[in-house]
Amino acid sequence: MSLAERTEASPPTRAASAPTGPGRAKKFGVAATRAAIPAVNGSLYAARTKIQPQAVRGTFRRIKWALLAVTLGIYYAVPFIRWDRGPGEPSQAVLLDLDRGRFHFFSIELWPQDVTYVMGLLILAALILFLMNAVAGRVWCGYLCPQTVWTDLFLGVERLIEGDRRERLKLDAAPWSMEKIALRTMKHATWLLIAWWTGGAWVLYFADAPTLVAQLATFQAPAPAYVAILTLTATTYGLAGHLREQVCTYMCPWPRIQAALTDEHALNILYKTDRGEPRVSAKRTAMLRAAGQPAGDCVDCFACVTACPAGIDIRDGLQMDCIQCGLCVDACDTVMGKLARPAGLIGYDTEANRRSRAAGGGSVSRIVRPRTVLYAVLIAGVASFMLYSLATRAFTGLSVLHDRNPLYVTLSDGATRNGYTVRLSNKRPGERRYALSVAGLPAARVEVVGGLAGDMPVPSDSTQEFRVLVFAAADARPGPSVPLTFRITDLATGATTRAQDTFKAPAP
Ligand code: SF4
Ligand code: SF4
Repeated sequence: MSLAERTEASPPTRAASAPTGPGRAKKFGVAATRAAIPAVNGSLYAARTKIQPQAVRGTFRRIKWALLAVTLGIYYAVPFIRWDRGPGEPSQAVLLDLDRGRFHFFSIELWPQDVTYVMGLLILAALILFLMNAVAGRVWCGYLCPQTVWTDLFLGVERLIEGDRRERLKLDAAPWSMEKIALRTMKHATWLLIAWWTGGAWVLYFADAPTLVAQLATFQAPAPAYVAILTLTATTYGLAGHLREQVCTYMCPWPRIQAALTDEHALNILYKTDRGEPRVSAKRTAMLRAAGQPAGDCVDCFACVTACPAGIDIRDGLQMDCIQCGLCVDACDTVMGKLARPAGLIGYDTEANRRSRAAGGGSVSRIVRPRTVLYAVLIAGVASFMLYSLATRAFTGLSVLHDRNPLYVTLSDGATRNGYTVRLSNKRPGERRYALSVAGLPAARVEVVGGLAGDMPVPSDSTQEFRVLVFAAADARPGPSVPLTFRITDLATGATTRAQDTFKAPAP
């Protein structure tokens, strides 16, 4: 069953609950939820209603603050971690050196030819995301996505400066005054400062961080650094400060993909309809229960709705807009605590569980199922393959390019000469020396123009091109195209690397 179908299929009996509905939503200053927004004059466009979420306390809020501190801490601090790679080598642990075409990640150094590792990492990331989704729905969206993390940070700043939901709503409605101008200026200035810091940290991944910081401070940094900082300042400020939940709802493709990938056994934050309905006030609950009439635990206080950063009512069922952040759980648990009722009216649950309970059955938990096993196996397979290929990858590169014109030269003594461009890559720190030889052509002679075939130096962490000539004696009489193996031997370690090409000669 798709997310859309489930959203349709699983709404609680809202209409049957007397005190609920738009009027009650208005009483709590909550805009109509998206699902309830009618098409005006047949238009599919609905203007955005600004969401002013209420602060909550609880387990999920604490987890979110902790993850925010860890993820932002990593993002801002990593460029300053040093890593000794020897003289002449960059000493930054994580560095995307675009000038030299190198990606340094601690002791791993990737060259442009190693793009397969980047693809492997992307595949791994996608598989981990699929596994997270199969186990616990949009756990990435709710806790780790940069949009969520920065929006949370911006909301925190807004709350610090302008107050909680009630004060902010009052401020929104108030006419412009010196106080309102001062608060708004302070808020936007702080947002811009964070956004600028975010852009500033990003460029530090592309150059030596302490050097670039000094250059930026003295306005001597390269122009692209300023352009990148300005662009990221603008996007962070716009996305986290203004667009917020709209990025998740309208711009990000993941909710749609996630909805197609999920199933009834994935954990999601859900409202337990069987426990919550019918909704009645706390006062009436005791009365109704004493009279043997049904009364749910939900007191329709709207705390879960006002806490929601997406501005939705989780009691309407699983919705595309829900980023699964858990803040409605904290809000509801606080209410349940005050009413001395058990927590967990809203919490992690599965559709299968919900259906089982509705049918009078017990709890169903199926974290281990074909799709989770498949994702786990694929993750293990891709990760193992990448680790193996990283551990065994060659640190010497050899590529050979035959001259196109002329394909061969017949010399005055009847010998045949072919020309090649040989490119040697030394991916290790420190200069390396190599010896070049060829196989496949009897009595072939190799010459390196301007050098020695037995001693070809390549500086540390670089690529060197050599012009190489191969000669076949007149009496060798090779065919018009003979396969030729080029072999280089590292003079220090004896390790060899090979490449194939051909030797061209006139037809016998
Ligand atoms: S409904 Fe709950 S879990 Fe979903 S976005 Fe809103 S607060 Fe977060
Ligand atoms: S916070 Fe809990 S009790 Fe209050 S409306 Fe939401 S689900 Fe009902």
